[in-house]
Amino acid sequence: MEFTYNAHPSRVIFGPGSRSRIGEELERLGIERAIVISTPEQSGLAAEIAKTIGGRAGIMYPGAAQHTPTNVTESALQAVSSVRADGCLAIGGGSTTGLSKAIAYRTDLPQLIVPTTFAGSEMTPILGQTEHGRKTTLNSPKVLPETVIYDPELTVTMPAFISGPSGMNAIAHSVEALYAKDRNPIISMMAADSIRALGAALPRLMAEPADRDAHSEALYGAWLAGCCLGAVGMAIHHKICHTLGGMFNLNHADIHALMIPYTAAYNRDAAPQAMVQIARALGTDDGPHGIYQLSQRAASKRSLREMGLVEADLDAAADQAVQNPYYNPRPVTREGVRDMLQAAFDGRAP
Ligand code: NAD
Repeated sequence: MEFTYNAHPSRVIFGPGSRSRIGEELERLGIERAIVISTPEQSGLAAEIAKTIGGRAGIMYPGAAQHTPTNVTESALQAVSSVRADGCLAIGGGSTTGLSKAIAYRTDLPQLIVPTTFAGSEMTPILGQTEHGRKTTLNSPKVLPETVIYDPELTVTMPAFISGPSGMNAIAHSVEALYAKDRNPIISMMAADSIRALGAALPRLMAEPADRDAHSEALYGAWLAGCCLGAVGMAIHHKICHTLGGMFNLNHADIHALMIPYTAAYNRDAAPQAMVQIARALGTDDGPHGIYQLSQRAASKRSLREMGLVEADLDAAADQAVQNPYYNPRPVTREGVRDMLQAAFDGRAP
């Protein structure tokens, strides 16, 4: 056994109702005038939380958008300067967390993140940003949030068409962690337990979107998945999703949820140990098939055709997906990728 393990420092508070601790955690971080970040859709929730922290809410910024456009970051930085904000409080999904990280990257301000989806970005030192339609990613300890408060009462408002794909997005982080080149036993343990927790919770969430116990379990799985994403390298699945998402402007969680059964199947023979761990976590005989069955319940879109692609797009996507490939246990060939995309286009079982 030989490995390198890097633990990322962050403080995690988990539990139903834990949002009541936001004020004391801001104080602990020395934040007296936070910029309170949300999307426009979640501005009501952000305002409600701001009321509970009084003067520590320095300025509201309900302008977060998917893929962290840099023009939004620049306007948020003006809001930071206008009140001399001394920290970020982000309440929302990966898009909201992304804006907080983008501010922290440029200012070194401390961050308190309150996730309301299963995206997992709050556990990673990774920041993706979009400028002139191009998304670039950077890795810096500056963007890693100091404190994260996971309150499953805040994820219950997700409708099933957001929570299902969001949970599958988290599973995708854990699946790829199990066959990462730089995997290690701690992260693999987290990945397997994350797949187990999400695999158990997602069908319950699909049947009853406000099931609080299922939300707790899913959010716990999402936290572990975020740790995996932040700690080890991702492979073909993330490469394909970045390619398709960027080329066709697709919803982040939807494309992850659709593709993960196909990308896992692509690696089925090249990563046998990971496949056994996935199958065991899902209580099934075959890992990729177990993920496919789960995605049939939890994904919002079941084929690339349903996502709006036409067959001619698959060639262009395959060409781009094999450029600058990430490490992957099975060699990434154009033919292999094209076949996989065809199966996903048709929505066939992998
Ligand atoms: P999102 O943050 O874009 O949210 C999707 C929609 O759901 C938004 O309208 C939001 O307001 C709404 N929403 C969020 N929580 C809700 C709730 N509890 N109830 C009702 N509505 C709610 O989506 P996401 O999938 O969480 O994040 C996607 C973004 O995060 C992408 O830009 C992706 O690149 C990024 N991301 C980054 C990392 C990283 O490590 N850097 C990891 C994962 C995702």
